[in-house]
Amino acid sequence: MSNDFLDVNSINTYYGDAHVIHDLSLEVGEGEVVGLVGRNGAGKTTTLKSIIGLQPPRTGAISFKGEQISGMAPEDIYRRGIGYIAEDRSIFPKLTVRENLIVGLSSGQDPEFDEIFDYFPRLEERLDQKAGTLSGGEQQMLAIGRVLVSDPEVLLIDEPTEGLMPTLVDKISEVVAQLNEDGQTILLVEQNIDLVLNNADRVYVMSHGERQFTGTPEELRENEEIIDEHLAV
Ligand code: ATP
Repeated sequence: MSNDFLDVNSINTYYGDAHVIHDLSLEVGEGEVVGLVGRNGAGKTTTLKSIIGLQPPRTGAISFKGEQISGMAPEDIYRRGIGYIAEDRSIFPKLTVRENLIVGLSSGQDPEFDEIFDYFPRLEERLDQKAGTLSGGEQQMLAIGRVLVSDPEVLLIDEPTEGLMPTLVDKISEVVAQLNEDGQTILLVEQNIDLVLNNADRVYVMSHGERQFTGTPEELRENEEIIDEHLAV
């Protein structure tokens, strides 16, 4: 199957000689929330890095809205509307919240943050505070907000709930649901299977760099074999 939104077609990605992603295909349709799950080291982050051009695939192709993006520089891929929120929540700790948001804008965009504050009212209260002094949860909100200000067509989010306490995990889950309602296309990498099962339209399960399963959250819930073999810890 392929579509004309985000289409990853049979990619193979390496770190030097280490072959990490094997013939992986996946697609994300416009307006969909797609979950990508699997154990540590399964290749989820590398898949996102392949899409955004930080670790380009050696073979296979990735296209976005019908245009091949694999082989393009990361900044050109970003400019086409693919936003990426890394696992390490890259924010600038010494800049204020406002400055962090401004840095996320593309040149020529207005600093129009109201939509971000709808999702994260806390950020509005903390606009003039240095980002490094925010709590872990607030830093994660800022990391998401920083990418949202550029109005991406697709949002790739790498483990947004990692290390967060349960109330903040719920907050992230609410934001994903709200973004989905607002039509935002999302590819969500998570270790927190419940968050994916509750929010995604479709799910891919990866293990050892290969796709092991694709289906709806309901189909995954019913597939004990896949859960035991590739997800249970
Ligand atoms: P995690 O949840 O731990 O981030 P993941 O599913 O995102 O896991 P990746 O980080 O994509 O997995 O890692 C996939 C494989 O690639 C692992 O075997 C990992 O050791 C290896 N790997 C990741 N980054 C590098 C690197 N920079 N150089 C060499 N090997 C790497």
